[in-house]
Amino acid sequence: MKRARGIIIAIDGPSGAGKSTLARTLAKRLGYLQLDTGAMYRAMAWLARATGLDLSNEAAVQLFCATADIELEPVNGSSRVFANGREVTAEIRTPEISMLTSRISALGPVREAMTNLQRRMGAQGGVVLEGRDIGTVVFPDAELKFYLTASAEERGRRRFLELQAKGDSISLEATIQDVQQRDAQDAGRLLAPLRQAADARPIDSTGLTVDEVVSLMEQAARAILAGKER
Ligand code: C5P
Repeated sequence: MKRARGIIIAIDGPSGAGKSTLARTLAKRLGYLQLDTGAMYRAMAWLARATGLDLSNEAAVQLFCATADIELEPVNGSSRVFANGREVTAEIRTPEISMLTSRISALGPVREAMTNLQRRMGAQGGVVLEGRDIGTVVFPDAELKFYLTASAEERGRRRFLELQAKGDSISLEATIQDVQQRDAQDAGRLLAPLRQAADARPIDSTGLTVDEVVSLMEQAARAILAGKER
Protein backbone atom coordinates (compact mmCIF):
# COMPACT_ATOMS: atom_id res chain seq x y z
CA MET A 1 0.00 0.00 0.00
CA LYS A 2 1.52 3.34 -0.97
CA ARG A 3 1.48 6.06 1.61
CA ALA A 4 -0.24 9.17 0.23
CA ARG A 5 0.92 12.64 1.20
CA GLY A 6 -1.27 14.51 3.67
CA ILE A 7 -4.17 16.45 2.21
CA ILE A 8 -4.88 20.18 2.29
CA ILE A 9 -7.87 21.09 4.45
CA ALA A 10 -9.46 24.54 4.16
CA ILE A 11 -11.67 26.01 6.88
CA ASP A 12 -13.27 29.33 5.97
CA GLY A 13 -16.00 31.35 7.59
CA PRO A 14 -16.85 34.58 9.42
CA SER A 15 -15.27 35.86 12.65
CA GLY A 16 -15.93 33.90 15.80
CA ALA A 17 -17.35 30.83 14.05
CA GLY A 18 -14.77 28.75 15.95
CA LYS A 19 -12.30 28.23 13.10
CA SER A 20 -9.12 28.53 15.20
CA THR A 21 -10.12 26.09 17.91
CA LEU A 22 -11.41 23.61 15.36
CA ALA A 23 -8.42 23.93 13.03
CA ARG A 24 -6.04 23.45 15.96
CA THR A 25 -7.88 20.40 17.30
CA LEU A 26 -8.33 18.83 13.87
CA ALA A 27 -4.66 19.39 12.99
CA LYS A 28 -3.63 17.76 16.25
CA ARG A 29 -5.81 14.70 15.68
CA LEU A 30 -4.43 14.21 12.17
CA GLY A 31 -0.84 15.12 13.03
CA TYR A 32 -1.05 18.03 10.59
CA LEU A 33 0.30 21.56 10.61
CA GLN A 34 -2.20 24.32 11.43
CA LEU A 35 -1.92 27.61 9.57
CA ASP A 36 -3.89 30.51 11.04
CA THR A 37 -3.96 32.89 8.07
CA GLY A 38 -5.91 35.49 10.06
CA ALA A 39 -2.89 35.76 12.39
CA MET A 40 -0.74 36.57 9.36
CA TYR A 41 -3.04 39.42 8.28
CA ARG A 42 -3.17 40.59 11.89
CA ALA A 43 0.64 40.67 12.04
CA MET A 44 0.64 42.80 8.87
CA ALA A 45 -1.83 45.20 10.51
CA TRP A 46 0.29 45.36 13.65
CA LEU A 47 3.37 46.14 11.57
CA ALA A 48 1.53 48.75 9.52
CA ARG A 49 0.51 50.54 12.71
CA ALA A 50 3.95 50.20 14.31
CA THR A 51 5.62 51.72 11.24
CA GLY A 52 2.96 54.40 10.71
CA LEU A 53 2.09 53.12 7.20
CA ASP A 54 -0.19 55.41 5.20
CA LEU A 55 -2.75 52.97 3.75
CA SER A 56 -3.73 55.45 1.04
CA ASN A 57 -0.15 55.67 -0.33
CA GLU A 58 0.05 52.89 -2.94
CA ALA A 59 3.83 53.01 -3.38
CA ALA A 60 4.37 52.89 0.37
CA VAL A 61 1.98 49.92 0.69
CA GLN A 62 3.84 48.09 -2.12
CA LEU A 63 7.19 48.65 -0.44
CA PHE A 64 5.77 47.67 2.94
CA CYS A 65 4.47 44.36 1.52
CA ALA A 66 7.73 43.61 -0.28
CA THR A 67 9.75 44.01 2.89
CA ALA A 68 7.41 42.75 5.66
CA ASP A 69 8.57 39.49 7.19
CA ILE A 70 5.75 37.48 8.77
CA GLU A 71 6.41 34.14 10.43
CA LEU A 72 4.32 31.54 12.23
CA GLU A 73 6.15 29.19 14.55
CA PRO A 74 4.18 26.13 15.70
CA VAL A 75 4.33 25.48 19.47
CA ASN A 76 2.28 22.91 21.41
CA GLY A 77 -0.61 22.87 18.96
CA SER A 78 -0.73 26.64 18.67
CA SER A 79 1.45 29.24 16.92
CA ARG A 80 3.74 32.06 17.88
CA VAL A 81 3.49 34.97 15.48
CA PHE A 82 6.41 37.19 14.44
CA ALA A 83 6.47 40.44 12.47
CA ASN A 84 9.91 41.52 11.29
CA GLY A 85 11.45 39.27 13.93
CA ARG A 86 9.44 40.65 16.85
CA GLU A 87 6.96 38.40 18.63
CA VAL A 88 3.43 39.83 18.37
CA THR A 89 1.39 36.73 19.34
CA ALA A 90 -0.59 38.45 22.11
CA GLU A 91 -0.60 42.02 20.78
CA ILE A 92 -2.45 41.15 17.57
CA ARG A 93 -5.54 39.97 19.49
CA THR A 94 -7.08 43.34 20.36
CA PRO A 95 -10.34 44.80 18.96
CA GLU A 96 -8.34 47.69 17.48
CA ILE A 97 -6.00 45.37 15.54
CA SER A 98 -9.00 43.27 14.45
CA MET A 99 -10.57 46.31 12.80
CA LEU A 100 -7.33 47.51 11.21
CA THR A 101 -6.72 43.97 9.90
CA SER A 102 -10.08 43.95 8.19
CA ARG A 103 -9.15 47.24 6.44
CA ILE A 104 -5.60 46.32 5.48
CA SER A 105 -6.58 42.86 4.23
CA ALA A 106 -8.71 44.47 1.50
CA LEU A 107 -5.57 45.86 -0.17
CA GLY A 108 -4.25 44.05 -3.28
CA PRO A 109 -0.52 44.02 -2.42
CA VAL A 110 -1.26 42.75 1.10
CA ARG A 111 -3.42 39.90 -0.19
CA GLU A 112 -0.88 38.98 -2.85
CA ALA A 113 1.99 38.82 -0.36
CA MET A 114 0.04 36.76 2.18
CA THR A 115 -1.50 34.44 -0.44
CA ASN A 116 1.95 33.65 -1.88
CA LEU A 117 3.33 32.98 1.57
CA GLN A 118 0.38 30.75 2.51
CA ARG A 119 0.74 28.74 -0.72
CA ARG A 120 4.42 28.19 -0.02
CA MET A 121 3.75 27.14 3.56
CA GLY A 122 0.91 24.75 2.67
CA ALA A 123 2.13 23.32 -0.64
CA GLN A 124 3.51 20.12 0.90
CA GLY A 125 0.07 19.10 2.19
CA GLY A 126 -0.65 17.67 5.63
CA VAL A 127 -2.01 21.04 6.64
CA VAL A 128 -5.18 22.67 7.98
CA LEU A 129 -5.51 26.30 6.87
CA GLU A 130 -8.16 28.58 8.32
CA GLY A 131 -9.21 31.95 7.01
CA ARG A 132 -11.69 33.65 4.70
CA ASP A 133 -10.47 32.77 1.19
CA ILE A 134 -8.58 29.48 1.54
CA GLY A 135 -11.05 27.34 -0.38
CA THR A 136 -11.85 30.03 -2.95
CA VAL A 137 -8.46 31.67 -3.68
CA VAL A 138 -5.44 30.34 -1.77
CA PHE A 139 -6.02 26.60 -2.36
CA PRO A 140 -9.04 26.24 -4.67
CA ASP A 141 -7.98 22.62 -5.27
CA ALA A 142 -7.82 21.71 -1.57
CA GLU A 143 -9.03 18.12 -1.12
CA LEU A 144 -11.36 19.05 1.74
CA LYS A 145 -13.12 22.36 2.38
CA PHE A 146 -15.41 23.47 5.17
CA TYR A 147 -17.41 26.64 5.51
CA LEU A 148 -18.06 27.22 9.16
CA THR A 149 -20.80 29.53 10.43
CA ALA A 150 -22.68 30.24 13.65
CA SER A 151 -25.32 32.81 14.53
CA ALA A 152 -24.05 36.41 14.95
CA GLU A 153 -25.02 36.35 18.64
CA GLU A 154 -23.10 33.14 19.26
CA ARG A 155 -20.04 34.42 17.37
CA GLY A 156 -20.09 37.72 19.24
CA ARG A 157 -20.49 35.91 22.55
CA ARG A 158 -17.50 33.64 21.85
CA ARG A 159 -15.29 36.59 20.94
CA PHE A 160 -16.53 38.45 24.03
CA LEU A 161 -15.60 35.53 26.32
CA GLU A 162 -12.14 35.33 24.72
CA LEU A 163 -11.54 39.05 25.23
CA GLN A 164 -12.97 38.99 28.76
CA ALA A 165 -10.65 36.11 29.70
CA LYS A 166 -7.74 38.33 28.66
CA GLY A 167 -9.01 41.14 30.88
CA ASP A 168 -10.32 43.33 28.03
CA SER A 169 -13.19 45.55 29.21
CA ILE A 170 -15.19 45.65 25.93
CA SER A 171 -18.96 45.00 26.28
CA LEU A 172 -20.88 42.12 24.73
CA GLU A 173 -22.92 44.52 22.57
CA ALA A 174 -19.79 46.24 21.25
CA THR A 175 -18.19 42.87 20.48
CA ILE A 176 -21.23 41.66 18.52
CA GLN A 177 -21.23 44.95 16.61
CA ASP A 178 -17.49 44.64 15.85
CA VAL A 179 -17.88 41.10 14.59
CA GLN A 180 -20.79 42.10 12.34
CA GLN A 181 -18.96 45.13 10.96
CA ARG A 182 -15.85 43.07 10.23
CA ASP A 183 -17.89 40.37 8.49
CA ALA A 184 -19.64 42.96 6.33
CA GLN A 185 -16.25 44.43 5.35
CA ASP A 186 -14.71 41.00 4.69
CA ALA A 187 -17.68 39.81 2.63
CA GLY A 188 -18.14 43.11 0.79
CA ARG A 189 -14.58 43.69 -0.40
CA LEU A 190 -13.61 43.33 -4.07
CA LEU A 191 -10.61 41.04 -3.59
CA ALA A 192 -11.01 37.52 -2.19
CA PRO A 193 -14.24 38.32 -0.32
CA LEU A 194 -15.48 36.01 2.40
CA ARG A 195 -17.77 33.51 0.71
CA GLN A 196 -18.44 29.79 0.63
CA ALA A 197 -16.63 27.85 -2.12
CA ALA A 198 -19.06 25.89 -4.31
CA ASP A 199 -17.49 22.60 -3.18
CA ALA A 200 -17.15 23.48 0.53
CA ARG A 201 -19.12 21.54 3.12
CA PRO A 202 -21.17 23.96 5.23
CA ILE A 203 -21.25 23.45 9.00
CA ASP A 204 -23.35 25.59 11.34
CA SER A 205 -21.62 25.27 14.72
CA THR A 206 -24.34 27.07 16.71
CA GLY A 207 -25.13 24.90 19.71
CA LEU A 208 -22.58 22.22 18.78
CA THR A 209 -19.54 21.36 20.91
CA VAL A 210 -15.98 21.57 19.56
CA ASP A 211 -15.74 17.81 19.83
CA GLU A 212 -18.89 17.27 17.78
CA VAL A 213 -17.69 19.51 14.95
CA VAL A 214 -14.12 18.19 14.96
CA SER A 215 -15.37 14.63 14.82
CA LEU A 216 -17.42 15.46 11.71
CA MET A 217 -14.37 17.05 10.12
CA GLU A 218 -12.03 14.24 11.09
CA GLN A 219 -14.39 11.61 9.66
CA ALA A 220 -14.51 13.45 6.34
CA ALA A 221 -10.71 13.77 6.27
CA ARG A 222 -10.13 10.11 7.10
CA ALA A 223 -12.56 9.01 4.39
CA ILE A 224 -10.58 11.00 1.81
CA LEU A 225 -7.26 9.68 3.13
CA ALA A 226 -8.51 6.09 3.01
CA GLY A 227 -9.54 6.61 -0.61
CA LYS A 228 -6.10 8.00 -1.49
CA GLU A 229 -4.23 5.07 0.04
CA ARG A 230 -6.28 2.44 -1.74
O1 C5P B 1 -9.54 35.04 11.58
P1 C5P B 1 -9.24 36.40 12.19
O2 C5P B 1 -10.42 36.98 12.90
O3 C5P B 1 -8.01 36.38 13.02
O4 C5P B 1 -8.93 37.33 10.93
C1 C5P B 1 -8.70 38.70 11.08
C2 C5P B 1 -9.03 39.42 9.78
O5 C5P B 1 -8.07 39.02 8.78
C3 C5P B 1 -10.38 39.10 9.14
O6 C5P B 1 -11.41 39.92 9.66
C4 C5P B 1 -10.12 39.38 7.67
O7 C5P B 1 -10.26 40.75 7.38
C5 C5P B 1 -8.65 39.04 7.49
N1 C5P B 1 -8.44 37.74 6.84
C6 C5P B 1 -8.51 37.68 5.47
N2 C5P B 1 -8.23 36.52 4.81
C7 C5P B 1 -7.91 35.41 5.49
C8 C5P B 1 -7.85 35.44 6.91
C9 C5P B 1 -8.13 36.62 7.56
O8 C5P B 1 -8.81 38.67 4.81
N3 C5P B 1 -7.63 34.28 4.82
